[in-house]
Amino acid sequence: MESAPPIREIFDRLLAAYGPQGWWPAETAFEVIVGAVLVQNTRWENVERAIAGIKSAGVLDPHALHRLSAEELQELIRPAGVFRVKAKRLAAVLTYLVEEHNGDTASLAQTPSGQLRRELLALHGVGPETADSILLYAAEHPSFVIDAYTRRVLERHGWAEPTASYDQLQRLFETALPRDAPLFNEYHALIVEVGKRHCRRTPKCEGCPLECLLPDSRPAN
Ligand code: SF4
Repeated sequence: MESAPPIREIFDRLLAAYGPQGWWPAETAFEVIVGAVLVQNTRWENVERAIAGIKSAGVLDPHALHRLSAEELQELIRPAGVFRVKAKRLAAVLTYLVEEHNGDTASLAQTPSGQLRRELLALHGVGPETADSILLYAAEHPSFVIDAYTRRVLERHGWAEPTASYDQLQRLFETALPRDAPLFNEYHALIVEVGKRHCRRTPKCEGCPLECLLPDSRPAN
């Protein structure tokens, strides 16, 4: 039986160890959206290469990217991997952004968050992590992002069962914290940081800021 995670203490320990992360690593809300779609199942470095190519082609703009043919879009995002699949997903998001919001990312922030989340989840290839990343980092809606690192940390500490759903994990954070977009932003970024530094496939618990929160303070398996 899992125990409740000390949500606030986890945040405090990570922030004390790593400091503010200044996320999302992008210059504009639209760049966040493109990155959130392309990052599925790949390393961030590959996304950066794809975005750099889009920038140097002068089409990092909702209308310009939306006007490209499927083949042109595929070619541009090739560095992000599984580019045919991702081009289709990105095209669906671009169509939504252009047709429902006139290509204006500020309009996303003005859309009620529940409605925006439902509309994003209805798009081809957009799952909860991508939708919440767009909500939080592009539109500043307080929607907590659950990613593989979050799940791993929670499970290894005995705070969540492997069968827990995305929504169950999200509720752990959203019920324990004030609904505050900057706080959710920082928290997710800090979890990614501990995931990259310590909570990898093989955990490196020694020296991890969350080591003292392990069950019995023993390293995780
Ligand atoms: S203490 Fe171990 S299990 Fe916990 S977050 Fe750090 S690396 Fe992961």
